[in-house]
Amino acid sequence: MSWEDNVHKVIPYVPGEQPKGNIIKLNTNENPYPPSPKVKAALESFDTDELRLYPDVNGGELLDKLSEVYGIDKDKIFIGVGSDDVLSVAFQTFFAGKAPILFPDVTYSFYDVWAELYNIPYRTIPLNEDFRIVKEDYLCANGGIVIPNPNAPTGVEKSIEDLEYIISSNPDSVVIIDEAYVDFGARSVLPLIDRYDNLLVVQTFSKSFCMAGVRIGMAFGNRRLIKYMNDVKFSINSYTINRLTVAAGVAMLEDEDYLKEVRSKVVATRERVKGQLKELGFSFPDSRTNFIFASHEKISAKDIFEAAKKKGIYVRWWDKLRIYDYLRITIGTDEQMDTFIAFLREFINGYI
Ligand code: PMP
Repeated sequence: MSWEDNVHKVIPYVPGEQPKGNIIKLNTNENPYPPSPKVKAALESFDTDELRLYPDVNGGELLDKLSEVYGIDKDKIFIGVGSDDVLSVAFQTFFAGKAPILFPDVTYSFYDVWAELYNIPYRTIPLNEDFRIVKEDYLCANGGIVIPNPNAPTGVEKSIEDLEYIISSNPDSVVIIDEAYVDFGARSVLPLIDRYDNLLVVQTFSKSFCMAGVRIGMAFGNRRLIKYMNDVKFSINSYTINRLTVAAGVAMLEDEDYLKEVRSKVVATRERVKGQLKELGFSFPDSRTNFIFASHEKISAKDIFEAAKKKGIYVRWWDKLRIYDYLRITIGTDEQMDTFIAFLREFINGYI
């Protein structure tokens, strides 16, 4: 007998590398643009005396501001430390049943990690050969459903009509729609939260709000869902949203013009890069996100991934069934993407 017999042993989620130095970082779907200058100003004028005090347990002014900007009552919003925290609390709150929860086989690779950690039975539902979710596959008995829209790492958007079909067909399960990437041109199911009491919509400041380093995520749903999540949260850690986070988040929400501009820049770059990748022999499902999930007709994704890394360009590749022929390429600035495309051109010409 040793203390190790009592350890809860888990296989953790592996985040994308965070290398230091002068590299082009297209591997973790961060926004290439900085937050609004208003965030800088808010942090520079922040009164550090305030740090003596605990923060508001519900996110205080950040909750007020989110409610105002989204036009949603405060008691229908939950704020967490990035959407990973929000999703983790949601898994603990809503998936305590015996039936397996459902999510796609190719999806965000944190879902099965939380399911294992919290002993939640789960079943993965294969995407079709075009990496699309088949809505009828989500009609079987289940203890809950999680679907990212658009899906990651594929970038594919599901129509809100199809999502509504899944939500309305499963009134006895909580359906979580993870909208981490929704602001890059996809449609949100947020307008449905008042119609379906089993719908929880999760979003984040990490991608379209240029603030992955601040850690803000939020869930929107009816009051009962949010209350149950708060009960679990207050059973773990009440003070999750610190005062600096609140100041930065509020300032970012105050600059809607800046957000619009940054998002449309990322979308314009993405559309341009799609054309260039096609010319170079790549194919990919159409992306509505800030990344493209691409496969080359002749060269393995692993070879490209490793050669790019040697040149200081980081993209993401997984040694996993179904997706090992694919690279997930985050959309950077125009200049970064030009460097990446130039690298690809040279590498492919030398290879073939
Ligand atoms: N959901 C999806 C689909 C993601 O790709 C990510 C980013 N890794 C997250 C949630 C979590 O992002 P964050 O915790 O930074 O909000």
